[in-house]
Amino acid sequence: MPEGLWIKCGACKEILYRKEVVQNLSVCTKCAFHFRISARERLEMLFDGPWEEFDEGLVSADPLAFRDTKPYASRLKDGRAKTTSWDALVSAVGAMEGLKVLVAAMEYGFIGGSMGVVVGEKVTRAIERAQAERLPLVVVSCSGGARMMEGTLSLMQMAKISAALARLDESGLPFISLLTDPTTGGVTASYAMLGDLNVAEPGALIGFAGPRVIEQTIRQKLPEGFQRAEFLLEHGMLDLVVDRRELKKTLARCIRFLSN
Ligand SMILES: [Zn+2]
Repeated sequence: MPEGLWIKCGACKEILYRKEVVQNLSVCTKCAFHFRISARERLEMLFDGPWEEFDEGLVSADPLAFRDTKPYASRLKDGRAKTTSWDALVSAVGAMEGLKVLVAAMEYGFIGGSMGVVVGEKVTRAIERAQAERLPLVVVSCSGGARMMEGTLSLMQMAKISAALARLDESGLPFISLLTDPTTGGVTASYAMLGDLNVAEPGALIGFAGPRVIEQTIRQKLPEGFQRAEFLLEHGMLDLVVDRRELKKTLARCIRFLSN
């Protein structure tokens, strides 16, 4: 049997026919578990047809010549080979249910979707483009947080992006943040939570620090479902949790509403 024809669901453990799952937007056909998808699959799902990508050639200069178990430079190279992207974010303009929308989607396959100078610059440019061309903006987060291989330079992106979002807000253009599994660290602490609407996919892990760190700090056991999308919705941190199969329609409806 050729490898990759079948896929095991991470939640219900059912063995599924991959083609069927892909046709179902990578949602389990048995239990509706949402599989993680790439940035390009995300754009394909959200746009009606072809899109125009921009800033695709931006690359990290590896300013610290960082090295842990292996050099950062070779991690960048691996990420590029794995995802065919130059960093962990793809931004593009296309049509969503006939509306011209700018979408910036994070790529988890590229060093855990971490936010370094390139992601920060690309998100900022996407915001500035949305403002200049009067377009609604959707940012799809899928990230382990700031990219530690770029040290404080990656943390500085949080302030840069937040400032650009404040300017976008002043010009009255809608920004919808879509939080997917996982959205953590510096990404949650900046743009992912700054949407006019913060929308998440079911079951998505969303948080700043991990549960173990929090438990050790506050010396308390955390409640069931802590840091999952549904828990956050219940506690007022999110506006909507939307099934991926309803997402495009819902986002387009929100954009129409916010644009009037
Ligand atoms: Zn399942």
